[in-house]
Amino acid sequence: MSDEPKPRSHGRMSISASARPRALMEETRPAGAWTARIVTLFPEAFPGTLGLSLTGRALAEGRWALQTIDLRHFGIGKHRNVDDTPAGGGAGMVLRADVVGPALDEAAAGTPADRARWPVIYLSPRGRPFTQAMARSWAGAQGVTLLCGRFEGVDQRALDHYAVDEVSLGDFVLTGGEIAAQAVIDATVRLLPGVLGNAASTEEESFSAGLLEHPQYTRPVDWQGHRVPDVLLSGDHGRVAAWRRAQALALTRARRPDLVADRNDSDAE
Ligand code: SAH
Repeated sequence: MSDEPKPRSHGRMSISASARPRALMEETRPAGAWTARIVTLFPEAFPGTLGLSLTGRALAEGRWALQTIDLRHFGIGKHRNVDDTPAGGGAGMVLRADVVGPALDEAAAGTPADRARWPVIYLSPRGRPFTQAMARSWAGAQGVTLLCGRFEGVDQRALDHYAVDEVSLGDFVLTGGEIAAQAVIDATVRLLPGVLGNAASTEEESFSAGLLEHPQYTRPVDWQGHRVPDVLLSGDHGRVAAWRRAQALALTRARRPDLVADRNDSDAE
């Protein structure tokens, strides 16, 4: 069963309610490693894609840690109910404050109270849109707690009581917060030292310089009559850099004028 705590493995732990949740939590937190603590009804959704490729290798190496807290363990009664019908009526179900609250208490164990050092986030379409700047800021924290909603969402009192910050993946509605949590963790973890092989690659890519990235090409030089632009084969690093910057600016102007609205033409050289 996914409800059972998994054995310690390279900094990844499942954490469940126990007689001594605090002691368990302190014992299992790897010293120093950036930690994502996820409150979810579906712990089996993790690590998901985060277990693959560069983020997966970094997880196995202990460069970051993942801990899931199963909401079901805090459910009420024999059936461990976590939700109930919306007050005032209407469709769907709402995650109960007296279920989410104790789960957030457990998630808070051993974490700094200062939210700059440990953000506590509810993934929600009502939240501030997630950005690269947020990923950078979270990467500078010790870790982050992410609450994944389901159904119609979470009883507002739990969000208010714990001063939970709401963050959105974008203007669309998912069925649950788990995919959103994986997306924001991925964006954050790849900024941690040693996670990407080549650190320079995070400085040049989309958003880092306030622009979308230039087009990328690789071999073969000629593919179905389409050639790699000559400038990229010139070996002239200055010309390559200038071409890439011009391409990035043109692409950003065309696709995301909001990102360059306050730039003047001198940026275009
Ligand atoms: N009734 C809610 C939507 C609930 S969707 C509303 O209209 O605002 C169920 C869960 O999916 C949410 O609790 C949230 O955790 C997650 N979710 C849905 N869309 C999301 C988005 N755009 N960004 C982040 N999380 C989202």
